[in-house]
Amino acid sequence: KGRLEFSEVSFAYPTRTEAPIFQDLSLLVPAGTVMAVVGPSGSGKSTLVSLLLRLYDCNSVKIVFLLVSQEPVLFSYSIRDNIAYGAVDPEAVTTEEIYGAARAANAFNFIQDFPNGFNTVVGEKGVLLSGGQKQRIAIARALLKNPKILLLDEATSALDAENEFLVQEALERLMTGRTVVIIAHRLSTIQNANAVAVLDQRRIAECGQHTELLGNRQG
Ligand code: ADP
Ligand code: ADP
Repeated sequence: KGRLEFSEVSFAYPTRTEAPIFQDLSLLVPAGTVMAVVGPSGSGKSTLVSLLLRLYDCNSVKIVFLLVSQEPVLFSYSIRDNIAYGAVDPEAVTTEEIYGAARAANAFNFIQDFPNGFNTVVGEKGVLLSGGQKQRIAIARALLKNPKILLLDEATSALDAENEFLVQEALERLMTGRTVVIIAHRLSTIQNANAVAVLDQRRIAECGQHTELLGNRQG
């Protein structure tokens, strides 16, 4: 429970006629591990994530896929409802639970607002949310889902210094005590992970504790 395991998985996109993307790929992410997956473009990071999602689709393990880079989808409701939507049963979730998630995600101070463009009161425009604020809403939503396993695709995004800190802090709270796989694009992320898998030409070139890998490079 809470661990991710691939054993000699081969995978080909049905639309491709050439060699499969992965051949006999094995990967173990022990429960509670934060694993950063790194590798150049085309090395197979996105494919790996989609396979992990498929693997657990048919399982009861709660898994949440969060794209930190992309603009999270906001619905035509209040920000409070956008967060509540993350709950397993949005009807049954309590205000305390929603507020707790919003606080932990640094999204509490604008929870009563409406996203810009979604007018509920005639004449009100709603607030223009920054990318970082949207991310914090998405993190609050994910917190309410309380997943055992978290897949995080962190593409490079230009956040201002304040948002960078607030998003990072929110993410750390979300990741605590969970099994996390991060498609890492920033060096700082790799330093925060306790394991790293290096993808190269659709193979796992190296995988292990962060400190071990650094040792390898020095030696
Ligand atoms: P990254 O994850 O490195 O930011 P992408 O996953 O968007 O980049 O794309 C990586 C490579 O996969 C690109 O060469 C892109 O053309 C290819 N690719 C992504 N999606 C598809 C698709 N649906 N069909 C074919 N090729 C794709
Ligand atoms: P990364 O995320 O590391 O950039 P991808 O997993 O997106 O790598 O891509 C790995 C390989 O799979 C690339 O050669 C890419 O062109 C191919 N690929 C990705 N998505 C698709 C797709 N939907 N259909 C066909 N080929 C794809």
